[in-house]
Amino acid sequence: MKPIGKVLCATGIIAGLLAFFWKDAFNPESLSGARVLLTGASAGIGEQMAYHYAKFGAEIVLTARREAVLQKVVEKCLTLGAKKIFYIPADMSSPSEPEKVVQFAVQKLGGLDYLVLNHIGVTHFQMWAGDVEYTRWLMQVNFFSYVALATAALPTLEKNKGSLVVVSSLTGKIPTPFTTSYSATKFALDGFFSSLRHELIMQNRNVSVTLCILGLIDTDTALENTRCVFGGGCRSLGGIVSAGTCLFLKACKKCTTVFKMVCASVRMCKKTNGKSASAWVHHGGCACTP
Ligand code: NAP
Repeated sequence: MKPIGKVLCATGIIAGLLAFFWKDAFNPESLSGARVLLTGASAGIGEQMAYHYAKFGAEIVLTARREAVLQKVVEKCLTLGAKKIFYIPADMSSPSEPEKVVQFAVQKLGGLDYLVLNHIGVTHFQMWAGDVEYTRWLMQVNFFSYVALATAALPTLEKNKGSLVVVSSLTGKIPTPFTTSYSATKFALDGFFSSLRHELIMQNRNVSVTLCILGLIDTDTALENTRCVFGGGCRSLGGIVSAGTCLFLKACKKCTTVFKMVCASVRMCKKTNGKSASAWVHHGGCACTP
């Protein structure tokens, strides 16, 4: 066997052994009785997280705007094993709601071990059309309310050596077309909560901060949002957001109109000359491979 073959073989064996013996440190028992406040819990990822916390026997407060939907999630959580569960309808576009929600949760559960920030305001992926007011509103829902919820919950989280979990997105790490306002809110989360994490460590304050960077997940709204907005024959862009611009092109290859529009508007992808491409787009650079 050639030396390179031996190296590859050895690497493969080591990787296999690591995978075999790797122990997931997660202990489901640790969530039994944990007190959790979860936002955006009426649909999508938040709803599914609620069911997981319920299965692990957590004590949960759910929040979102739609009361009737929250009630249904609560019912299912009870059948799954939630120790205690409450809900509070709240619209996070209102600056007074975050504190009210945290107070409700602390009063019902006697404190908090986890604050999971997950909600987002209605989002449409499209070219920037100059709607500054919408961006301001989205900042309130997706960013300022997170800051306010976290601030209100920090004292109880600190007391209980708790965890702050912030659900963000790849578009909060990698600039991507058609997501201007949404992306801005997610970048803001990274700036604020990553800085806060440093400060908490510097002050020996016992609260962990986790920023979850998600790629595309097929929730109903995500699929709806990533549907082509340019009209014509393009029906779906599926599976696009996580890998950035060039995957947009790949997803659109059957739709000539949109394909040309995207190509013309995204300078860095011109070199693929209108052919489908896959690439990792990062900070304005692009390594398109036809
Ligand atoms: P989703 O299905 O649209 O759910 C959004 C949740 O937020 C719903 O429970 C909604 O309930 C609530 N909400 C909407 N407007 C609100 C408001 N003004 N005030 C309070 N709550 C509000 O979203 P998702 O796809 O599950 O996404 C969840 C999280 O994952 C988000 O932070 C998102 O950025 C992140 N993420 C998702 C993907 C993906 O592909 N799905 C990718 C990357 C990151 P009501 O309508 O009842 O208020």
